[in-house]
Amino acid sequence: MKITIIGGGLAGVEAAWQVVKQGGKVILYEMRPKKFTPAHKTPYLAELVCSNSLRSQAVNAAVGLLKKEMQCLGSLVMEAALATAVPAGKALAVDRTLFAQYITKKISRHPRIEIRHEEVKHIPRSGIVIIATGPLTGNSLSEDLRRLTGKDYLHFYDAIAPIVYAESINMEIAFRASRYGKGEDYINCPMDEKEYDRFYEALLKAERVPLHTFEKPHFFEGCLPIEVMAERGKDTLRFGPMKPVGLTDPRTGKQPYAVVQLRQDNQEGTLYNMVGFQTKLKWTEQKRVFRLIPGLEQAEFARYGSIHRNTFIDAPRLLDHYLRLKPAPHIFIAGQLSGVEGYVESAATGILAGINAWRLGQNKLLISPPPTTALGALISHLTNIVTKNFQPMNINWGLFPSLGRQVPKKERGKLYATRALADLERWLKDCYE
Ligand SMILES: Cc1cc2nc3c(=O)[nH]c(=O)nc-3n(C[C@H](O)[C@H](O)[C@H](O)COP(=O)(O)OP(=O)(O)OC[C@H]3O[C@@H](n4cnc5c(N)ncnc54)[C@H](O)[C@@H]3O)c2cc1C
Repeated sequence: MKITIIGGGLAGVEAAWQVVKQGGKVILYEMRPKKFTPAHKTPYLAELVCSNSLRSQAVNAAVGLLKKEMQCLGSLVMEAALATAVPAGKALAVDRTLFAQYITKKISRHPRIEIRHEEVKHIPRSGIVIIATGPLTGNSLSEDLRRLTGKDYLHFYDAIAPIVYAESINMEIAFRASRYGKGEDYINCPMDEKEYDRFYEALLKAERVPLHTFEKPHFFEGCLPIEVMAERGKDTLRFGPMKPVGLTDPRTGKQPYAVVQLRQDNQEGTLYNMVGFQTKLKWTEQKRVFRLIPGLEQAEFARYGSIHRNTFIDAPRLLDHYLRLKPAPHIFIAGQLSGVEGYVESAATGILAGINAWRLGQNKLLISPPPTTALGALISHLTNIVTKNFQPMNINWGLFPSLGRQVPKKERGKLYATRALADLERWLKDCYE
């Protein structure tokens, strides 16, 4: 049976490669060069639409570990990246043209892959299908996906608030409390008037990421970036996400002038997101300005805020651990559409979807890596049904199960990586022996 893959981006090519590596056959639909997304410019498969960096190569960094795991799984993207690397310090950066050409050659010359340069507007209702059409999936396919999933589980923009590591919050200043004494669910960073003024001025002046031509600023009305809200007047934030009502600062016994609330973001309680702080500020500016918030002076960010044009599904409601759509289990979703963020993460989910699509065709048990691995941690994030307002995420240590003991921060990455690679090896043995 031929497996249909829609989208020849980073996830689609990885998926195709995994299917043929196991002996399967693929029909790969890629609409370029007949039709382009607003970001793609070339006819090549696996085009990198923006940066040429696949980020840190150090295995004691979460994304470095993910890349190492991808190599263990026979990643075509990693093979191409290493073959076309350019000097970039500790990062793995590539010559983007050579990188995409390398992959295009490998895929188009493979005897068991047939490429069809067509736009797919309707998802096949039978056969085994992988959808990997990326963050700029067009209207027709999106509409069909919406029909298939039955409900409004498809998003067209992300609205991401920064996430900080709990241990980097200064609890001498911040305090735990829910409003009106109803528990202690939130961490609150209180501000007096002077501190608020300083923060407010810095926020207004901070540098922003410009919108792409295909992004519409009016879309954000329902979910405004914090800096845009600030522009509406000095008190807008104090009556919005920074309202202090119902909260008493235990240090003063009074209601603060303004409050930034942080909500727990993972079950381990190691990550907290800044409630209502979705933003288009540049990352360096987020670090500078948000560190002006009392209690966050030394905050370490697991994820910076962002707002992009980004088509993605509500993965916790729709995906199983094998990246299959629960309402239509002959369909797998991979790449950015599945709710991961970034080139490397997208490619990694393509690997898993490819492996499982082939296994489904062979009536073999589907597989998913342990949550202690980087790929497993990503899948856990996608499938965590406890998450309410699901937003895409890069790989970071906050997604991993805790090490079960206090470890100095400097050593943590190495320990996570050692555990992950040992578990991945065991898992691979179990699956393939
Ligand atoms: C403007 C922009 C900038 C970005 N910058 C970065 C960055 O710097 N670093 C980073 O890590 N990530 C970045 N990303 C995210 C990045 O796009 C994704 O992480 C990654 O490319 C997603 O891989 P993918 O395979 O899911 O989708 P893509 O790589 O986008 O591949 C999807 C493919 O599907 C094809 N396709 C779409 N619809 C159809 C259809 N109906 N029929 C047939 N073919 C179709 C497209 O032509 C495309 O080739 C950026 C995203 C955007 C939109």
